[in-house]
Amino acid sequence: MHPDIALLTKYSQPGPRYTSYPPAPHFAADFGIGQWRQEIIESQEPSRPLSLYVHIPFCDTLCYYCGCNMVAAQKYGKATEYLDYLKREIDAVAALADPARPVVQLHWGGGTPTFLGAEDIRALAAHVRSRFNFAADAEVSVEVDPRGLLPEQVQALRESGFNRASLGVQDIDEKVQQAVNRIQPLSLIEEVYGWFRAEGFSSINFDLMTGLPHQTLEGYRKTLAEIVRLNPDRLAVFGYAHVPWLKKHQKLIIQSDLPDFATRMAMQELILDTLEGAGYVHIGMDHFARPADELVKAQREKTLWRNFQGYTTHRHADIYAFGASSISQTEDIYAQNEKRPNTYQKMIGEHGLATVKGYRMSTDDKIRRDVITELMCDLALSKSAIESRWKVEFDDYFAGSLHLLEPLQADGLVEADNKEIRVTALGRLFLRNIAMSFDAYLNTPKKEAPRYSMTA
Ligand code: SF4
Repeated sequence: MHPDIALLTKYSQPGPRYTSYPPAPHFAADFGIGQWRQEIIESQEPSRPLSLYVHIPFCDTLCYYCGCNMVAAQKYGKATEYLDYLKREIDAVAALADPARPVVQLHWGGGTPTFLGAEDIRALAAHVRSRFNFAADAEVSVEVDPRGLLPEQVQALRESGFNRASLGVQDIDEKVQQAVNRIQPLSLIEEVYGWFRAEGFSSINFDLMTGLPHQTLEGYRKTLAEIVRLNPDRLAVFGYAHVPWLKKHQKLIIQSDLPDFATRMAMQELILDTLEGAGYVHIGMDHFARPADELVKAQREKTLWRNFQGYTTHRHADIYAFGASSISQTEDIYAQNEKRPNTYQKMIGEHGLATVKGYRMSTDDKIRRDVITELMCDLALSKSAIESRWKVEFDDYFAGSLHLLEPLQADGLVEADNKEIRVTALGRLFLRNIAMSFDAYLNTPKKEAPRYSMTA
């Protein structure tokens, strides 16, 4: 079932993406290096596996829509220096962790991890593997910028154990690419995609984007047709968040070149029609996957979860994140590193760690995190499961949230009875709105309230 434009319009409002709960704007500076070090020591629960994240902040050039923590580096030497500090941080955390805990996931994000040359890819991957105990079937993934990539880098990634890749595609229309300063012809994308397939990567994702300058419905129809022809295993179709007050370089995008609201909404409908018509499963929000993909399997088996990389197949893993701006997570806390690479390096040089803010969750936070993530991942929630896990009367505890949910129920986005809350097929597109009903922080007084991107 597909939404009409009136419904998309009604529910288009600023809201968190819930890659964490509470969302990152609530992290505070009273959680620093000492607290993170102590937390690592105290949270060594052998039954909880580890998920590692490595942040490489460098890019060759700046894409004007970019919302990531990155620096456009003129010289490769900057990366060499950064890698040295990154390895020191990895050593510092590994020294505090139980060496037997299995690593079930490793993800390199950025910036552009493929900014690194083949030799550095091999050296960094070997360093991480030498400090942690990798499960034989660990998911090892990397974000890839097709521009300037060489086959030897793909080979280095594969030989270092990477088995998943995510290619930044956004749109194949040349006019759009020019307006966002990211020129990558379809022939290049296709060639790079072929290298990853030839090396035997088991899952390849394409990141697409809507809401970019000069995008039209017709143009995006062509983009989607080519993407479906290439047949990636997963697709993430993000809406561009135009937040020039937060990301100054987005001022380089001319506001009047952006597609209007009606076009953006029509593109949402087009995406659902095209991708579901081509056999992709809509996981939720902006994520689609082939029926045989592990994301679909994990959703079916209720092991899907959300973290800072989006949807993930491992529910009960602690995240140790390395590099500037990266965010670690245990059952009880979030801990974020310094964002500026130079300051990050200075802190690592002095302390071995670079935590500058974080958050210790209350019991209420944990209950709401469970509810929100289960709704966003399982698309259903058993009230009695929450009650027995957290010793609360669901309908009493969430009386306010259930009241907020009523209009969404009336619009057919959720169904609720005494036992369950279920997200409908239509509701998969409105998961952020559904989750917002359970967010205790959205009542923050206006003056301090964080400014979020739009839900649609
Ligand atoms: S390659 Fe990615 S991280 Fe780098 S500027 Fe472009 S969008 Fe941002």
